[in-house]
Amino acid sequence: MTDSSFSPIHIIGGGLAGSEAAWQIAQAGVPVILHEMRGVRGTDAHKTDGLAELVCSNSFRSDDATSNAVGVIHAEMRMANSLIMACADRHQVPAGGALAVDRDGFSEAVTAELQAHPLITIVREEVTGLPPEAWDLAIIASGPLTSPSLAEAIREKTGEDALAFFDAIAPIVHRDSINMDICWYQSRYDKVGPGGTGKDYINCPLDETQYNAFIDALIEGDAVGFKEWEGTPYFDGCLPIEVMAERGRETLRHGPMKPMGLTNAHNPTVKAYAVVQLRQDNALGTLYNMVGFQTKLKYGAQAEIFRMIPGLENAEFARLGGLHRNTYIHSPTLLDPTLQLKARPGLRFAGQITGCEGYVESASIGLLAGRFAAAERKGEEISLPPATTALGSLLNHITGGHIVSDEEPGKRSFQPMNINFGLFPELEPGSIVKPEGVKRFRGKDKTIMKRQLVAARALEDCKAWLDRA
Ligand SMILES: Cc1cc2nc3c(=O)[nH]c(=O)nc-3n(C[C@H](O)[C@H](O)[C@H](O)COP(=O)(O)OP(=O)(O)OC[C@H]3O[C@@H](n4cnc5c(N)ncnc54)[C@H](O)[C@@H]3O)c2cc1C
Repeated sequence: MTDSSFSPIHIIGGGLAGSEAAWQIAQAGVPVILHEMRGVRGTDAHKTDGLAELVCSNSFRSDDATSNAVGVIHAEMRMANSLIMACADRHQVPAGGALAVDRDGFSEAVTAELQAHPLITIVREEVTGLPPEAWDLAIIASGPLTSPSLAEAIREKTGEDALAFFDAIAPIVHRDSINMDICWYQSRYDKVGPGGTGKDYINCPLDETQYNAFIDALIEGDAVGFKEWEGTPYFDGCLPIEVMAERGRETLRHGPMKPMGLTNAHNPTVKAYAVVQLRQDNALGTLYNMVGFQTKLKYGAQAEIFRMIPGLENAEFARLGGLHRNTYIHSPTLLDPTLQLKARPGLRFAGQITGCEGYVESASIGLLAGRFAAAERKGEEISLPPATTALGSLLNHITGGHIVSDEEPGKRSFQPMNINFGLFPELEPGSIVKPEGVKRFRGKDKTIMKRQLVAARALEDCKAWLDRA
């Protein structure tokens, strides 16, 4: 039964997140007014007026809920009656283990479902400023290509440094794939700093031959160009490493790969010619980012070239580097755990603007923002998903699961992220046990078992959470 005596919740942006949020709110019996500017004003990437348009690939990535983090979030969203997942399933096209969709059929289905819902009103207009005070509950889901006037209004409210127009992402590596027989923990000059231990970085040593081979590979590597509308957002301290390498063979050795203040714990008498440093990226300590390694190299080239670094020969990447046009806020400092702007209660953010990346992740944060806003409107307690679920771990990354940066005291490090197993809490010690009858139980087998256990725990905990909600 629906109850339309509630006043409406306003959503700005009918993309992946806004569409899902609208559906969740309306299904909870609360009216929604969805403001979407396409039809009146376009973006540089969208081509249609359809809601939830996929601007690039037609893939929702892996659909394997047993051992892939993206598959797990698909499964959790299906359990939570996601409109985006239901329409994707209905418009699936063959793609092996991935969930790929007919993009037009998918977007048309989402649009039709939302248009037909008795509690949803779709208004085609650009919202040019922050929601007026009369919109007491609202969600901004305007995405990576938020219109300039709205972005400016958000920036005025959140502060100059809190809204980014590009992301400059260095690759992030799963700690347990780093070879610690070659690498060692040490901060440069053993500096403890505020909140450090003197052993905060993982260091990978290169000799002169290895360094030169690495520089050659970087220079020869295949980079991705900027689209015309993206401009060339190179700014100080944020040059792609391949651009630095092109500027001079020694540039990296005097920049992010400088060996000064570091002593190889495995070989203290030999000074490394260059060192790659990795810094802890999440509070759990499962992910490490390659410091200063933002890059425009193609993904395939990145994995190949970065595995040339001693200690990273078997590196598993939670995400590869990139430099993109984006719009995202510094969520960990700005938002509370329910995605609400601390400076303006009742106003939530959802989707890529919160610092997640990808169609599925954006929709999942829309799903949560919608459920939280609907609960608030109905005077119900807001129930957060457990940290062990994919929804909970992504939410925790966005609203605070990352760590304080020791390079910029007071400012926390935060970069957009896809869902990946590095965001989930570790299993209880002793959970990974060699199966009976198996003779050789190697590192790879353990990794697979770990993923399966984390995935199974996530699905079980998600079901229990939804049953309680
Ligand atoms: C060029 C490009 C390529 C990408 N490729 C991929 C890919 O291959 N795979 C992948 O998973 N992800 C990709 N992404 C990321 C993906 O598009 C986003 O993660 C996802 O669409 C974000 O969902 P969202 O709802 O937050 O934003 P969007 O889906 O972009 O939706 C935001 C909506 O808000 C509307 N809007 C903006 N400002 C206003 C305003 N002021 N008033 C009213 N409406 C407004 C926009 O028109 C849009 O419909 C790509 C992004 C870009 C920019």
